[in-house]
Amino acid sequence: MIKNADVVIVGTGAAGLFCALHFTEDIRILIITKDAIDKSDSFLAQGGMCMLRDEDDYNSYFEDTMKAGHYENNPQSVEIMIRSSQKIVSELNSYGVEFEKNGRDYLFTREGGHSRPRILFHEDITGKEITSTLLDNVLKRKNIEVLEYTSMLDIICDKDNSCCGIVMCNRDGDITLVRAGHTVLACGGLGGLYKHSTNFKHITGDALAIAYNHGIEVEHISYIQTHPTTLYSEKPGRRFLISESVRGEGAILLNRNKERFCDELMPRDIVTAQIRKQMEKDNMPYVWLSMENITEDEIRNHFPNILGQCLKEGYNPVSGYIPVVPAQHYFMGGIKVNSMGRTSMPHLYAAGETSCNGVHGRNRLASNSLLESMVFAERAAYAIQQEITSKGSQCKNLDDDYFTHLVNYEDYKDIDALIKGYKSRVLNEIKKEENRHE
Ligand SMILES: Cc1cc2nc3c(=O)[nH]c(=O)nc-3n(C[C@H](O)[C@H](O)[C@H](O)COP(=O)(O)OP(=O)(O)OC[C@H]3O[C@@H](n4cnc5c(N)ncnc54)[C@H](O)[C@@H]3O)c2cc1C
Repeated sequence: MIKNADVVIVGTGAAGLFCALHFTEDIRILIITKDAIDKSDSFLAQGGMCMLRDEDDYNSYFEDTMKAGHYENNPQSVEIMIRSSQKIVSELNSYGVEFEKNGRDYLFTREGGHSRPRILFHEDITGKEITSTLLDNVLKRKNIEVLEYTSMLDIICDKDNSCCGIVMCNRDGDITLVRAGHTVLACGGLGGLYKHSTNFKHITGDALAIAYNHGIEVEHISYIQTHPTTLYSEKPGRRFLISESVRGEGAILLNRNKERFCDELMPRDIVTAQIRKQMEKDNMPYVWLSMENITEDEIRNHFPNILGQCLKEGYNPVSGYIPVVPAQHYFMGGIKVNSMGRTSMPHLYAAGETSCNGVHGRNRLASNSLLESMVFAERAAYAIQQEITSKGSQCKNLDDDYFTHLVNYEDYKDIDALIKGYKSRVLNEIKKEENRHE
């Protein structure tokens, strides 16, 4: 079966949804997601989203981002992200997103690596507030079709090695070819490849494996961020995040003797290293987090989701300590893109965590990723819209017979084996790069 779209977007996280909303309504968009529509890491974001507060904050925001990234960041991308932040916030407001305010003024929180509070938030469920609002808006658009439980298995390349769509399958394994003028990969990170991760299990870096298979440039595959504080649990599955803004509001880390052992507001990689060292010294599988410096009111009002989850696991942060442990959290590398989201393959774009435009360098500054996802997803939409307006949608002219012959159905006969192969390809590439760096 063949389906047609002007633009196919893979992923219903903040990047995919924001991208879809930035096309004119005469462009036919298809968005697909592997799982339920609301099962994206964007929904899980707790702490918040950065915004440039005022011109006086520019230099310090820029420096904080560069410093956290060990100055391996692409300065042009950092500038674009910071300079676009206020516009993104007003667009989000226009869609109906609500950030916490005191009267008419925004309230800002702080996380590790930030020299001042500049993070907008909505309780401790900022990602849900943003992503569910974007989703509501997407579902109202007549030109956008969304398919859940539909996985991209591959991209389709024309004989001149330009992208002209994707191969996808539904839950029953039925294969459909999507013929599209432009394809946007917004598939998120790769935490599903790890035993201990804050990410959804189904987010496994498929787009990265597909990129490697087609010779598309990928950058910094081994730049993987570990979050210092996830709730320690013996249970299998996703690790629950204890947002950095809890430490930003005053929570402290303690060793087995309940003594402080580090500066909790250093960038994530540094705090992670110190926690691991302490766990080894104490011979414990976790360290303690104490919220004794945060008022009960603040815990209940700012962190109701975290409080609820801790209580469910048998820990009361209002009156005691909670055990925390580092876990895989974020992917700074990805499919190499320019500042408009273009990959090295014509007609193929990437945005969000799947892509690498160099904003984060070697280590992401807290609460820069939702912002980055939306800034560059919007830019990709703009670039595609311009291309369509000036040149039309190239793949529209590929007839069915020619298009079908670009695909070898044999490659998708055993989907489980294909996906398993993708996972080990990505893990091998990570290992290879790590070995090169040693
Ligand atoms: C627990 C947690 C807390 C976080 N807190 C914050 C925070 O406070 N602030 C912040 O800025 N960032 C935070 N982040 C990071 C941030 O949420 C993500 O980096 C960002 O939302 C990524 O958005 P995305 O659209 O690129 O990907 P995602 O939101 O992960 O979406 C990926 C989409 O791609 C789909 N997909 C993947 N592979 C396929 C395939 N083969 N076929 C079809 N669909 C596919 C998935 O189903 C999903 O819909 C947090 C992340 C986690 C996990």
